[in-house]
Amino acid sequence: MSQENSIRLSISGMSCAGCVASVEKALAAVPGVTQSAVNFAEHTALVKGDVQATQLVQAVKDAGYDAAELMSEADQEEKEAAELLHYRQLLKKFIVAALLGFPLFISSVMGKMPGLESNREFWFVIAVLCLFVMIYSGRHFYIGAWKAFKVHNANMDTLIALGTGAAWVYSLLITLFPSIVPETARHVYFEPAAIIIALINLGSALEMRARGKTSEAIKRLIGLQAKTARVIRDGEERDIPISEVGLDETIRVRPGEKIPVDGLVIDGHSSVDESMLTGEPLPVEKTAGSEVVGGTINKNGSFLYQAKRIGKDMALSQIIEMVRQAQNSKPSIGRLADKISAVFVPTVLIIAVLTFLVWFNIGPEPKASYILVTTMTVLIIACPCALGLATPISIMVGVGKAAEYGILIRNGEVLQQAGKIRTVVLDKTGTITEGKPTVTGVMYGDGWDEKQILSLAASIETQSEHPLAEAIVEYAKQQGVETSPVSNFQNVAGHGVCGEINSQAVLFGNQKHLQKQHIETHLFDNEAQIMANKGHTAMYLAMDKKLIGLISVSDPVKKDSKDAIARLHKLNIKVVMLTGDNQRTANSVAHHVGVDEVIADVLPQHKADKVKALQAKGHVVAMVGDGINDAPALANANVGFAIGTGTDVAIESADVTLMAGSLHGVANTITISRATVSNIKQNLFGAFIYNAIGIPIAAGVLFPYVGLLLNPVFAGTAMAMSSVTVVTNANRLRFLKPESI
Ligand code: ADP
Ligand code: MG
Repeated sequence: MSQENSIRLSISGMSCAGCVASVEKALAAVPGVTQSAVNFAEHTALVKGDVQATQLVQAVKDAGYDAAELMSEADQEEKEAAELLHYRQLLKKFIVAALLGFPLFISSVMGKMPGLESNREFWFVIAVLCLFVMIYSGRHFYIGAWKAFKVHNANMDTLIALGTGAAWVYSLLITLFPSIVPETARHVYFEPAAIIIALINLGSALEMRARGKTSEAIKRLIGLQAKTARVIRDGEERDIPISEVGLDETIRVRPGEKIPVDGLVIDGHSSVDESMLTGEPLPVEKTAGSEVVGGTINKNGSFLYQAKRIGKDMALSQIIEMVRQAQNSKPSIGRLADKISAVFVPTVLIIAVLTFLVWFNIGPEPKASYILVTTMTVLIIACPCALGLATPISIMVGVGKAAEYGILIRNGEVLQQAGKIRTVVLDKTGTITEGKPTVTGVMYGDGWDEKQILSLAASIETQSEHPLAEAIVEYAKQQGVETSPVSNFQNVAGHGVCGEINSQAVLFGNQKHLQKQHIETHLFDNEAQIMANKGHTAMYLAMDKKLIGLISVSDPVKKDSKDAIARLHKLNIKVVMLTGDNQRTANSVAHHVGVDEVIADVLPQHKADKVKALQAKGHVVAMVGDGINDAPALANANVGFAIGTGTDVAIESADVTLMAGSLHGVANTITISRATVSNIKQNLFGAFIYNAIGIPIAAGVLFPYVGLLLNPVFAGTAMAMSSVTVVTNANRLRFLKPESI
């Protein structure tokens, strides 16, 4: 028996995006692994399959990196503490290297540097100091490069190690034996080595700081979890850590406390603030039988409840897991960058060799200096970090931003697709409307009265789970109407219900439902039309093939549906309403909320076909539904939005789950998606342009025309800043206010 599980690892030693590919490859090669994704922005990996964590850790180690399994949130805290330590170390390394590099650099720029020939001892001391800096501040580059070399690989560390190493060795040789090069080439390059190491450390430190902010969304969700629960064991109340709460245990929640796990209220009542999960600002009343969700906050009352979902099964845990997985997944837009990053370092090494050869063969004197400067700057400027960070970092921020708005996005690809949506198809019941219909009128034929009609309808609807059925049963109960037993009950999807009461055939449903049985419906045509024009749904009741009554219900439109649809229009999106209800009722609701097109009388099984028909016109189509009979349509749409209740994250066929239930979630998702994709494009453009311009200039293509070569110190600055720029740009997304667009 094989068991799919997902393992999260923290990965250290990844210096650049090129490393992502190596680690992913190593993980994927472990037998049993079905999926592996490395998140360079978070320095973690998510692996799925039938494997042991220890095997994975070993595979990562064999590839020249280090890994540890992340199990609980405590590990997460440990990881964060380790990162803070690492951050401080990077800063220290920067300071040490800068103390040597910058004074040398400044005096060299001002031309105040002691000459080489007359001050050999001075330069020898500098060479030793520089070596010390390289060991103290740059050790991790050389170790990383060596580890990669051992497994026949090359990464950013390789480039830095080669660049700075070559500079130091060359300069030392010139210091010791100046005569090996012509007089014009007797120039040493200790300060670029020190400064490059300083700047790259500084860059990593800044990047790390900014990266930390991108996982705020997850931290906020984790922070919602309660730490302890007050359980009642053997008649005694005691506080225990939440991880020790068992299923079906009784828990007491006092006013103002956080609800520890999911469950059902058994005694007492209170109102609960669920806004952190549903975005719904009003507190929800809870009495015996109500569901409560871990992480939400109890307001004034106190109650006892029974734990029904604990640990990983809790809604909050599942939300955290979903957000995490989505943050770790890559959209197609990032794949090209990943492919390029994977071959980037070897390509740069080849360019460096070519640069060397060209300058060696046709370069001017002093050749040795030119060769060193050009190959060194090529190696240093061509770091692929920015390229590899461009996509994952924005996805992390984008997915997190969405979570903040109660929007759960399945993966990065969905986030990318959502921005391209041109048509939004909305289900009527439960999506545009509240999904809680109430009876508005009962009509009856000759010889019948209201109670009799209600009684027959309610009897038969007791068997159905349709929201319309619930409305009728509820209303009959309020009116104190008795129901009778029903036999041969049948549910005709999209039409209605039928069965036998006292051996008489009873039919209840829409006009078509009766027409199919050749039952005359003219009797109530007028009333039905009046109701439909008001947006109410009329259902016909027939007994023994004769129409005897009509019950109308109305499902109020959600307060903000109209505004949300107006926002979609502003985003240039066509809004279509899809419903199984009749055309007239549908038109009335559609008119009220302002949708562009109405497709009515659709059987549940045909909803997916309608979505396909819209797609065939070349539209990118989103379907929004409550997920019950809309699942096939949700699955067929380019992006499927399920209206969830936040507490019910089991909606797995959907690409996006709107926890708040409001249609504003659709507009918010599209806005966040568009912003994220353009953010990624800016990042990719920045990263590409920087390399596309930087590498040729560093190699010296401009030299024959304008005599321009890049200063190695400049190359170091550019490379250190490139990833900082990308991370900073991604962080701009954190301030996005989708509702204001
Ligand atoms: P929607 O697309 O609004 O979810 P359905 O496809 O479930 O609607 O149903 C379409 C129509 O069929 C309803 O508007 C109603 O007239 C009729 N209908 C469906 N189920 C029932 C039922 N249990 N009782 C009465 N009428 C029903
Ligand atoms: Mg429905």
